Amino acid sequence: MNKMAEKLCPSCKKALKLRESGYPMGSAFLKADRVHVDIYECPECHGIRLYAAESDSNMVTCPKCGTVHNAKEACAVCALNAALDAEGK
Ligand SMILES: [Zn+2]
Ligand SMILES: [Zn+2]
Repeated sequence: MNKMAEKLCPSCKKALKLRESGYPMGSAFLKADRVHVDIYECPECHGIRLYAAESDSNMVTCPKCGTVHNAKEACAVCALNAALDAEGK
């Protein structure tokens, strides 16, 4: 496992800077099949490069309730609320 290896711009050979980590790509277009990416920017040519998110522990903020939870899991608070709604009928 090479953790957090430096990513270099292919044209400038400069170390890319991480702009966004675990960004949910495609969420605006596809509800399912979200892909999380790390967005890097080259400080030299300002080229943007995307990499599949490396970390297993990517946290996302739930758009419904604002709870921060693991990107690979459903929001526990929303799941609980849905269950309570169903019972409280
Ligand atoms: Zn560059
Ligand atoms: Zn939620």
